[in-house]
Amino acid sequence: MIELGAPILGEPEKAAVCAVLDDGWITMGERVKRFEREFARLHETEDAVAVNSATAALQLSLAVWSIGPGDEVIVPSLTFVATSNVILHAGATPVFGDVVAPGTPHLSLAEAERLLTARTRAILVVHYGGYLIDLAPWRAFAAKHNLVLLEDSAHASGLPGAAAAQSDGASFSFFTNKNMTTAEGGMLVVPDPERRQRARWLRAHGMTATTLDRAKGNAVGYDVVDCGHNFRMDELRAAIGLVQLERLSGWNETRRKLTAHYREMLPQLAPGVTVPFDSSWTTSAHILPALLPQGTDRPAVIPAMKAGGIQTSVHYPPIHRFTYYQDRFPGLSLPQTEAFSARVLTLPLHPRLSESDVERVCRTLGQALNT
Ligand SMILES: *Cc1c(COP(=O)(O)O)cnc(C)c1O
Repeated sequence: MIELGAPILGEPEKAAVCAVLDDGWITMGERVKRFEREFARLHETEDAVAVNSATAALQLSLAVWSIGPGDEVIVPSLTFVATSNVILHAGATPVFGDVVAPGTPHLSLAEAERLLTARTRAILVVHYGGYLIDLAPWRAFAAKHNLVLLEDSAHASGLPGAAAAQSDGASFSFFTNKNMTTAEGGMLVVPDPERRQRARWLRAHGMTATTLDRAKGNAVGYDVVDCGHNFRMDELRAAIGLVQLERLSGWNETRRKLTAHYREMLPQLAPGVTVPFDSSWTTSAHILPALLPQGTDRPAVIPAMKAGGIQTSVHYPPIHRFTYYQDRFPGLSLPQTEAFSARVLTLPLHPRLSESDVERVCRTLGQALNT
C-alpha cells in the first residue's frame, strides 16, 4: 500500500522522548522554550508561541486581536473545518469567499472586495497545500480597510513567508499528517510583542507565571490578567518537535522534488490530470492535489486506486456544504470552490516515497481513468 502520508519517527525522536522522561520535568518547560526559539529562527521571525494544536493557535490569533461578536471574518470554504470553527467559537461570523479558480485554489481577493461590509474585521487566508499565497496585495487591502490579516499556515511549516512576515498572526500545525509532527501540537506567530505576550497568558489560564517559573522560585505567586485556556504544549512534544524541526527543510525539499516528478509524469501516464498552481510557486509541498478531468466518476476512481494499493483522499469537501454549516449559511454558492472540490483527488506525497512510487501512482490513476 502506498500511503497518502506518514509521519517519519525514528531513533532520534525516541531518544528525545526518553531524555524528557529521565529528566522528570514533563509539562511546559525549557524544551518548549527552545522549540519556540528554534521554530522562530527557522521561520526568520523574532519569537513564537507553542500550543497544543493549530486550532488553539488560530483561536488565540483571533483572541489577541479581540475578534468576537458582531465581527465578520472573510475565510475560504476550501480548507479544514477548524479554520472556520474557531471563528464561530469566538462568537464572530465566518464569511466564506470563493477561490480564484480550480487552477489556483486560494481565497480570491476580488471575492474579499465583494464581501467587505462595515462589520468586516479580519481576513483569514489559508496557504492551501503549502502553496504560499502572495500576501502583498492582501496586506495592502487589509491596510486600506483597517482589517486584521491572519494566516492559517497549518500546511506551510518550513516556509518563512507563512510566518506572519506580512500578516498579524500565523498558525502552524504539528498534527500527525503535517510536514512535521509532535503528534498533536501547534505554533502561533504574532509579530506585535504585546499581543504575543497576551497569547502566552491566554495559553495558560491568563496566569502571569508558569508552573516552571514557580518551581524554579522565579515567581512566588501569580496574577490572572485574562480569561485564558489550557492550550499548553508539553516537554515530550517539544522534544519530538526539536528533532523534527532539524529535518523539516530536507523533507520539504524531497516533497518538492516528488511534486515536480508528479508534474512531469502525470501528463504521460494519466493524461488530462493536472496539478494546481505551477512548478515555480513557493511551497512546502504539503499535499499533492490532482485535478481529475471534468466529468470523471471520482467515486469509481477512489476504490480503483485502493484496489491498486494506493491510498487517496479529498482536500477538501467545502465547509459550506457540511450539514452544520449548510443549516447556518443556507443557499451559499461558491462555484470555483465547488468545481475544484468536485474534481480534486489527493495523491500520496511524503518524503519516504520514491520516484518509482510516484510513477506507480500515476500509472494506476491513468488505468483507473480508462476503465
Ligand atoms: C490540520 C489543519 C488545521 C488544524 O490543525 P490541528 O493542529 O489539528 O488543530 C487547521 N487548518 C488546516 C488548513 C489544517 O490542515
